[in-house]
Amino acid sequence: MTIKGVLFDFDGTLTHPGALDFPAIKLELGCPVDQPILEYLETLAPARRAELMKILEEKEEIAAKASRPNSGAEKCLGDLKNRGLLLGILTRNSLSSVKKALKTFNGVTAKDFSAIITRDVSLPKPHPDGVLQAARRMGFKSSELLVVGDFRFDVMAGKAAGAWTALLTDGGRSVMAPGDPDPDFTISHLRTIFDILEQDY
Ligand SMILES: [Mg+2]
Repeated sequence: MTIKGVLFDFDGTLTHPGALDFPAIKLELGCPVDQPILEYLETLAPARRAELMKILEEKEEIAAKASRPNSGAEKCLGDLKNRGLLLGILTRNSLSSVKKALKTFNGVTAKDFSAIITRDVSLPKPHPDGVLQAARRMGFKSSELLVVGDFRFDVMAGKAAGAWTALLTDGGRSVMAPGDPDPDFTISHLRTIFDILEQDY
C-alpha cells in the first residue's frame, strides 16, 4: 500500500477530546441519545431545524474557542508534511469552528491542509462523500488516503470510500458498534501514524 495523504477527523482527533460535550448538546436540542445530531435535525420541520441549528452552531463556536490541540498533533502534522504527505481534515463540524480551533495550534494553519471538508460542502460522515471529495482535491485515489478518526463514523466513511482507516482510541470503551467495519489500524496516539507509514516503505 502507498499512502500519499492523511485525512484527519477534527474534534477529538486533531483536538483534545472532550471540548464538544455531545450528551449535553443532545439534551439541549431534544435529540435522542442514540441518534446523531445532524441526522436528528434533518427529521425536523425547516423552521425548528433552523432554530436548533443556530443553537448547535453557538455551542460549536464556544467549544472551538475552548479546544486545544491533541497530544502530539502539531508535531505529527509537521512531520507528515515534511515527509511529503498531503494533509486533510474531514469533519461534521462547520468550517467556521475548524478555523477558530486551528488558531489554538502552534505552527499549523488552515493553509497546511490541501483539503478541509466540512458539513458546509459535503454529506456528513459516515457517508463516504467527504473522503471522496478530499481524495479528488488532493489528486489521489481514496485508496491512497489514510483516514484517522476517533469515532465509528470516521472508520465507516473511510472504509465505504475505499480508504485506509486508523481508529484513534483513548484506551477506553470501544466506540465501534456490532456490524461496523473493522478499522485497518487501531492507534492510541497520533505518533503511531508513523508506524503505519513505515509498513509502506
Ligand atoms: Mg471526532
